[in-house]
Amino acid sequence: MRPARYFVRFFPALLLCATEAHAQSAVDDDWVRVNPAAYGSLVDDDINRYSANADFFKGILISQKRFSENGFNWHLLRFENPEKSIGPMWVVPHDDELAAFNSMIAALRQYGGKAITVNSGPGAARMQSGHGTCGDKTAVQSECDPNRNFSRLSPQYTGAFLRQMNAGQPVIALHTNKSGFSGDGKGGAGSISLYERSIKGGFKQKRNGFFGNGSRIEFNNADSFGLSAYRSASQIPDDRSVACRKALNADGVNFWHEPVSVSDSSMSQYLLLNHPSAQYFNAESREETDTALATRRHLAMVTSYLKFCEAAQPLLSVPAQSTSIIETVQPVAVEHVVASQPK
Ligand SMILES: [Zn+2]
Repeated sequence: MRPARYFVRFFPALLLCATEAHAQSAVDDDWVRVNPAAYGSLVDDDINRYSANADFFKGILISQKRFSENGFNWHLLRFENPEKSIGPMWVVPHDDELAAFNSMIAALRQYGGKAITVNSGPGAARMQSGHGTCGDKTAVQSECDPNRNFSRLSPQYTGAFLRQMNAGQPVIALHTNKSGFSGDGKGGAGSISLYERSIKGGFKQKRNGFFGNGSRIEFNNADSFGLSAYRSASQIPDDRSVACRKALNADGVNFWHEPVSVSDSSMSQYLLLNHPSAQYFNAESREETDTALATRRHLAMVTSYLKFCEAAQPLLSVPAQSTSIIETVQPVAVEHVVASQPK
């Protein structure tokens, strides 16, 4: 029997995918399964990296989806673990983040569910080239950040992700991040950290970031952390979110509690403001020369989140027949959005 707690928690989510789901209902599952022998035809650098390692994707089903929207051609790849079909939705929006891709496959094997990655085309470009509008921005531009295109203005793109969410399951995005801040005068090249970016460059002060208890040496840097967003209009995160943060810190994992009032069209902010019942967690690892180190760090964050955070606990209780949360639902209010920082 479906636990009452699960239903109560999840019911609002049925209201969430309104515009995106409705717009795509006629082509709801136009993902095309790809035979392993044809993986090379995907022209995806991540998959091609393992062309000589037949076991890397063994047991994983891969599908693709192509479409054009707002002047950009998108190529999404979906990965499924049929042995554990019920599980989180894993998201790797940036094609240049190799450890995030590796972590996604490892997490999919361990915890099940589905994953979506964005193939930017030949090579491993972070941005999608094109000529059109991206996310909530109305100005025409020549490239679109795949993690700045979650918007009511891009229902095809946004809906393609939302329809893969499993009921009661968290959404977990994986990112790698360069050290420090670009232009900080200290060799930094990143765009997100537990520290605030100074107006004049360099580190200014600790922001709403919380370092772990020091028990894990791999988190001895400000560029690796878990992230969840909360509505800054409510002043403080809710108790459950705070408990999650403290549990992660006690497990040695850094955490940034991201205050949000308007969306920057990133997945975390879009979901928070438009679909608050969706449980989102972002695992952000510093990029490393040793990709395996960044991968281990990702998995440590994911494991800690699934183990200690109440938001992830329905993972243990969702009925086996549960599928996508996408239903025919009524539209909900559109949040007005502006851009903020990248990640
Ligand atoms: Zn990223």
